[in-house]
Amino acid sequence: MANAEVMFVVWGLIVARLAAQLGLAALNRREVLRYADNPPAAVAAMVDGETHKKSTAYTLAKNRFGTVSLIFEAGVLALLLASGVLPWLFAHIGAWAPGAKWDDALFILAAAMLAGVPGLPFEWWETFRLEARFGFNQSTPRLWIMDRIKGALLALAIGFPVLWGLLSLVGWAGDAWWLWGFGLLFGFQLLMIVLYPRLILPIFNKLTPLPEGPLRERLFRLSDRTGFKASTIEVMDGSKRSGHANAFFTGFGRFRRIVLLDTLLNQLTEEETEAVLAHEVGHYRRGHIPKMLATSAALQFAGLWAIAELAKSGWFNPGFGFPAGELAPAFLLFGFTSGLVTFWFAPLGNRVSRKHEFEADAFAREAMGGPEPLVAALRKLASKSLSNLTPHPLFSAVYYSHPALVERERVLRENAATKS
Ligand SMILES: [Zn+2]
Repeated sequence: MANAEVMFVVWGLIVARLAAQLGLAALNRREVLRYADNPPAAVAAMVDGETHKKSTAYTLAKNRFGTVSLIFEAGVLALLLASGVLPWLFAHIGAWAPGAKWDDALFILAAAMLAGVPGLPFEWWETFRLEARFGFNQSTPRLWIMDRIKGALLALAIGFPVLWGLLSLVGWAGDAWWLWGFGLLFGFQLLMIVLYPRLILPIFNKLTPLPEGPLRERLFRLSDRTGFKASTIEVMDGSKRSGHANAFFTGFGRFRRIVLLDTLLNQLTEEETEAVLAHEVGHYRRGHIPKMLATSAALQFAGLWAIAELAKSGWFNPGFGFPAGELAPAFLLFGFTSGLVTFWFAPLGNRVSRKHEFEADAFAREAMGGPEPLVAALRKLASKSLSNLTPHPLFSAVYYSHPALVERERVLRENAATKS
């Protein structure tokens, strides 16, 4: 491929993805408007009219904001790749220490951070205008700025040594560098899963063990009953940033842990909290964590192989104004452009994720002796978060990592009925 052709192909991919994203957003907007004044019976049974009105307004506001951000992001990406600013940066930072790998690592990080700057006003607007308007935002400008600074420093502290290591592998492993690179990256990922809740999360949030009391006793009984055997259940102060509630699961083996957001504890009864925990344990007991890890390993393997091939090719780097054979630009360009291709496979990944959610729900139903506690919890969380209960089926198929609530409840109840 000639240089100009590479850029044309990339522009084509940017336009195609943007068109698909805007089309999906328009479909979803129409669907939400269709049910704005007369929700389907299943939805009317879940939330009161007032909440339905509010969640419609919230969904439409997010839809408008999302549409503008998508167009802006596509423009920034096109400009970044076509303007020549990246090769310029490479030439300048590369001049500090010609041939040195730390220099190349620094270039990748500098370029990645530069690319994140234009989106900052959008993130600000989302937090302090959009989320605030619907009463979700709890963050302050000071906290917001501190979060960005901490995030950037963390990216440097972690990204720099990892990139330096990866780029240095070529020196002694030659063409097989990417295989070693895969080992390095995957090992690092396993390490991070263990370290993340201990070292990284506490930089942004306070984690405290769930205090003694009836709730704690209840949750530990569940944990024993379901074979999870939690050593600790932690509460995270999510309420300092947002009113949205959540619970999540991190780690594996001996390092597994469950984190509940304080917002969740404030919104749910003890029995509902227990049902949510049962769902989280379901992810663990159904083996979803090793499955996700294996998938991510396979993707890393393919990604590193692709980077090695692209760096060697005579067209990839030159197509964007970089010298052929250089690894650092190939890494960066892969990072910027791979999403243009992987976007089309996102429905597949989300489909697997939704299958896992159904499995965890079924596990929770069994552990709780029926579907009602989880149904009650999900309804409450959806209504407090103003979730969109009438997404367009195509929109949810592409983007939703969790099944839409109507579908989730139907499956929870249906299979319970056939079993009894
Ligand atoms: Zn889940």
